[in-house]
Amino acid sequence: MASQDLIERLEKTILNIPDFPIEGIQFKDITPIFLNPKLYEDVIADLAKFSKGKVDVVCGIESRGFLFGIAIAVALEVPFVLIRKKGKLPPPFISEEYELEYGISEIEMRTNQIQPGQKVLIHDDLLATGGTTQAAARLVEKQGAKATQFSFLIALKNLEGEKKLEKFSDQIYSILNY
Ligand code: AMP
Repeated sequence: MASQDLIERLEKTILNIPDFPIEGIQFKDITPIFLNPKLYEDVIADLAKFSKGKVDVVCGIESRGFLFGIAIAVALEVPFVLIRKKGKLPPPFISEEYELEYGISEIEMRTNQIQPGQKVLIHDDLLATGGTTQAAARLVEKQGAKATQFSFLIALKNLEGEKKLEKFSDQIYSILNY
């Protein structure tokens, strides 16, 4: 879906940091994207195109999911809801535990910000094992809303994260696939 030009510009920009934060992880550093406003704008336009007219709300996952998620929501003219790491949100909130590519964690979401029946895009910068995004989808569905779309800048295909998300929706999009 993304143009070959956008794919190539992103591939050149995103850095691969071997063995960070622990040995064996190929860490994808997306921060150089923010040094290039035009590239950032094109990334947002591409991600917004995938979701245009299809969702009522965008949920972004802390913290790199915020960096793109808010701009996607603004482009779509829909609300943005934060999914945060444990301990950051005031009540009322609900929580879900999940497994990371490196460790175990917990995410939380305010309970009064999405409505039953709403169609929700869940966005994060990167799909690895899918544990984080799956937990986010559970938070959305616990509130009677539907996780109808997932988007990422990058998917690490060999970790098969999409398999965890397919039970919620087959509308899964990533600009780059490694
Ligand atoms: P997962 O739950 O395994 O899909 O992990 C996804 C989350 O962990 C995302 O929020 C990513 O930002 C982060 N993450 C996992 N693996 C990497 C990686 N190789 N490079 C950069 N971020 C990663």
